[in-house]
Amino acid sequence: MSYVDEVLERVIAKNPAEPEFHQAVKEVLNSLRPVIEANEEVYRKEALLERITEPDRQFKFRVPWVDDKGQVQVNTGYRVQFNNSIGPYKGGLRLHPSVNLGIIKFLGFEQIFKNSLTGLPIGGGKGGSDFDPKGKSDREIMAFCQSFMTELCKYIGADTDVPAGDIGTGAREIGYMFGQFKRIRGTYEGVLTGKGLSYGGSLARTEATGYGLLYLTEEMLKCNGHDIKGKTVCVSGSGNVAIYATQKAQQLGAKVVTVSDSTGWVYDPEGIDVDLLKEVKEVKRARLTEYAAARPSAEYHEGRGVWSIKCDIALPCATQNELLLDDAKALVANGCIAVAEGANMPTTLEATEYLQQNKVLFAPGKAANAGGVATSALEMSQNSERLSWTFEEVDSKLQNIMVNIFHNLDDAAKRYGKEGDYVAGANIAGFEKVANAMMAQGVC
Ligand code: NDP
Repeated sequence: MSYVDEVLERVIAKNPAEPEFHQAVKEVLNSLRPVIEANEEVYRKEALLERITEPDRQFKFRVPWVDDKGQVQVNTGYRVQFNNSIGPYKGGLRLHPSVNLGIIKFLGFEQIFKNSLTGLPIGGGKGGSDFDPKGKSDREIMAFCQSFMTELCKYIGADTDVPAGDIGTGAREIGYMFGQFKRIRGTYEGVLTGKGLSYGGSLARTEATGYGLLYLTEEMLKCNGHDIKGKTVCVSGSGNVAIYATQKAQQLGAKVVTVSDSTGWVYDPEGIDVDLLKEVKEVKRARLTEYAAARPSAEYHEGRGVWSIKCDIALPCATQNELLLDDAKALVANGCIAVAEGANMPTTLEATEYLQQNKVLFAPGKAANAGGVATSALEMSQNSERLSWTFEEVDSKLQNIMVNIFHNLDDAAKRYGKEGDYVAGANIAGFEKVANAMMAQGVC
């Protein structure tokens, strides 16, 4: 049996009931086969794949808090510190009822390679809780965040592990967590990124993941003879990534015609009105029905359906496994030329394969959405320097990083005879740096 297959079997046996983690490891290791086969003897002796698929450590803890009725509620908190061979652990905190250890591990594993691809010194980690922020009052959110940080603060620090936002964790939650960290640890340090601008946050961090997605997509299209200008785009999600992806796509001359949330989706053939979307989602924290009610050109549909709309470019920006094989078939039938993942692992393995077989340009999340974590690393640099850079400075560094990421993965794919396979290219380019660092640091 090949080394990759042996390790895949071992990962599944050692981590039962964690299908998302198995899926992420499978996707990465399968596309690394040419690199691993070329170095099989050394990697086996070093147990490199066994080590890279086993987190350095993982924490699971109780998060008790009191709701507005005086009732004590209990959630579960997680932090997985996966790999710090190239820098302190870095990765977001997800607050969503679907969160469990397997999901945090899949995200943490992906984060290792994504962070490596940015070219910045950051390792991979992820955390979160099964807490559902929806429908909670501000006071309840603060009570949860303070309790969560009361435990988490034992494991993190500016040079150890620097969490950030993710689904359900935006500037408000980061603010409450930062306040609690400071209170308990008594230090003012860049322990979280995505902070508010008045206390160490970076300009352009809010926009970074969505903007970065478009910078990489634009470069991928350009290198394949297409211009983003005038293209029709379908976006899923209507959170942080989706909003700023929509904004940048429109700034670059494309037209975004869909957005979605967990209950429905909007088709707006005139092009999504970003200001209205921000008002509905960022200010009122309301459902998309309110967007449709305020916009005569928009249709609202319950359930799923974004990928049934004809488009040139699809940008899944909501959550994992939201673009299925049937969706991929619909996109191909409608003439879609590119899919770039704003969310983490939004496309299933079968859907990815189908898109690639049908010559759709496919940019995987670990490359395409790396702009968020890259800008978080820029926030860490500014915090260390005790300086703040202008929006334009950060945005232009972000743009360079995304263009470099695309060329790194394009080159890596070409080096291994997989031209145009950006999934393999991203995994190979991300893996090589981490693998070299791990080997140089001995058995640890
Ligand atoms: P937000 O919480 O701001 O938005 C998430 C969006 O996805 C919302 O519109 C939400 O709808 C929708 N959504 C969430 N879960 C589901 C579900 N199960 N089914 C359908 N829709 C769903 O999160 P972000 O925009 O920050 O993150 C989106 C994705 O991007 C995630 O995969 C995240 O890991 C990834 N990502 C985020 C980065 C960042 O900087 N924020 C960086 C890199 C990756 P509703 O409001 O109804 O829940």
